[in-house]
Amino acid sequence: MDAKINKIKSWNIHSARKTYGVKDWSNGYFDINEQGDVAIMDPQHSESNAVPLMKIIEGMQDRELQMPVLLRIENILDQSISDLNETFRRVIKRVGYDNEYRGVYPIKVNQQAQIVEEIAHFGSRYQHGFEVGSKAEMIAALSTLENIDSMIICNGYKDQEFIELGLEATKLGYKCVFVVETLTELPIIVERSRALNIRPHIGVRVKMTSKISGHWGATSGERSVFGLSSRQLIEAVDYLKETQFLDCLQLLHCHLGSQIPNIRDIRMGVVEACRYYADLCKEGAALAYIDLGGGLAVDYTGKQSSSDQSRNYTLEEYCEDIVDTIKSTLDEANLPHPTIVTESGRATVAYTSVLLFNVLDVNRFDASAVPDEVASEHELLKNMREVIGYLKPQRLQECYNDAVYYRDEVRELFKRGHIDLRMRSIAENLYLTILHSIKDMLADMPRVPEELAAITASLADIYYGNFSLFQSLPDSWAIDQLFPIMPIHRLDEEPTRRSILADITCDCDGKIERFVVDQQIENTLPLHAPKLNEEYYLGVFLVGAYQETLGDLHNLFGDTNVVSVRLNADSSFEFVKEVHGDSIADVLSYVEYQPREMQMRFRNKVEAAVKEERITAKERQQMMNTFNASLQGYTYYEKETIAEQQSRIAV
Ligand SMILES: *Cc1c(COP(=O)(O)O)cnc(C)c1O
Repeated sequence: MDAKINKIKSWNIHSARKTYGVKDWSNGYFDINEQGDVAIMDPQHSESNAVPLMKIIEGMQDRELQMPVLLRIENILDQSISDLNETFRRVIKRVGYDNEYRGVYPIKVNQQAQIVEEIAHFGSRYQHGFEVGSKAEMIAALSTLENIDSMIICNGYKDQEFIELGLEATKLGYKCVFVVETLTELPIIVERSRALNIRPHIGVRVKMTSKISGHWGATSGERSVFGLSSRQLIEAVDYLKETQFLDCLQLLHCHLGSQIPNIRDIRMGVVEACRYYADLCKEGAALAYIDLGGGLAVDYTGKQSSSDQSRNYTLEEYCEDIVDTIKSTLDEANLPHPTIVTESGRATVAYTSVLLFNVLDVNRFDASAVPDEVASEHELLKNMREVIGYLKPQRLQECYNDAVYYRDEVRELFKRGHIDLRMRSIAENLYLTILHSIKDMLADMPRVPEELAAITASLADIYYGNFSLFQSLPDSWAIDQLFPIMPIHRLDEEPTRRSILADITCDCDGKIERFVVDQQIENTLPLHAPKLNEEYYLGVFLVGAYQETLGDLHNLFGDTNVVSVRLNADSSFEFVKEVHGDSIADVLSYVEYQPREMQMRFRNKVEAAVKEERITAKERQQMMNTFNASLQGYTYYEKETIAEQQSRIAV
């Protein structure tokens, strides 16, 4: 048992809140109820009761929606959008800023139709628009936006077709802005606008020199691959002047990067943006919008600090810093206040999705009872037994060194055939016994030497979760992104195990070994020992941003089931949408297999076996049924047996 858990005398839900930091990262959307379940706090009906996730899982079971499931909570998305808009509105009023805020959602952050449609819907009352980076996203934006007064910000490289789509949107009435990222786009915009006789809205993306900290810092700075340098900006202005399009240059765009943890960097970026803004106005541009891009961070660790996966500011402070800085900088330059645009993606969608999965198996590294010494026992094993005798807190390092030395010697002799498998197994068991004793003694020590600290992690359990890291949490694998992970039930019970998580891909990279526990980053997560005949469920939170469409088909695990719920004022909830995840046939066809042909080939194989009298026709049919049911099945671990599945399909 770990030191920290030991010290908590009697466990209750407050201990659970503290251990898993629920209040720190959940933004008020999740909490632990008196029964020890994680519950969704309905942000829109604060007077109603929270809805336990376990209750939603029961509903999924009734609908035969198997784990893993990506759960989306509509109310949270709705609330995130209104929080962003309302906070800007409030701050603008308080500061006396003389213009308004317009938000746009960058579709790349989560392109799933359901999310984009919900944002268009919930955002329409705020004229919340979209940021698009490709023709495909442009088409998604045009077909889903509900409010014609919403903005469409077009970033990325734009060919003629992209520009024509944007000009049509402008004609329809949308405030569609072409943000120029390279000079080659300008002549196409000018030429197509003339040809279609539409005055375009043009923006310029500037290259920021303000350096920011955090993982995405490289997006900014001189070598950033995006945006125009000051030299190119002047060239653009001159070109637009020459072609008589300078009055169309209305928006200044800058994007410092995603997940900016430090408010100081945001302020510095805004100051630099304002300088560009003021001087472009001086050059005769009719600027009326300042677009600060994304960057509003999510506090994944809940530490409220300027470290990588956190943020040292609130939404209120973010808005205040932006509005305040623009106001004071432009007042000084005697310029009217522009409309403020931001492109918050991560902070808008992260909270709305939770990945839920069950634990399939646990691998423990406990020592079993040490068998009594036998006369013929090898000297090395006797030495190991002696180590157990002289173990005490003052000699832990020495004992550890001895144990490692003897174990390695035993392994060496085993290789050379001097020690047999049974003896080696006793030695390994003695080794584990010593390590567990050391770990227990370390728990009571104020300071633990680094080398010994690794012992605790090395003895941690491995919990196998029914999910694919590569499909559902790609950033956890690719960039060591931390997500809050915790059991979603039994939290009134003390979690007595320490463990790491492995997924079912059997890939050695498919594991999670970094967690936020008690505000510290630790290598293991406190979990409960699973009970016999009872599922144990974990939730990974804040997974709505960047995870869903970055995922890959590692080991051909496909999309998970997705369930969307909406909470009602009377504490009830409804399943508003469900999307069944990929079947095995689906994922096979993604990599160019043809399931029909595979069925045919398998059929020929088993039919040949019948002909050769290796199997009966009845057995053949059984094989075919199993094969076909598998093809139609879920790619993840299913609790239902194939026979059950067949009878279900047969009905
Ligand atoms: C990715 C991106 C965003 C979104 O940034 P978040 O940090 O997720 O809010 C906004 N604007 C541009 C141009 C981007 O490339």
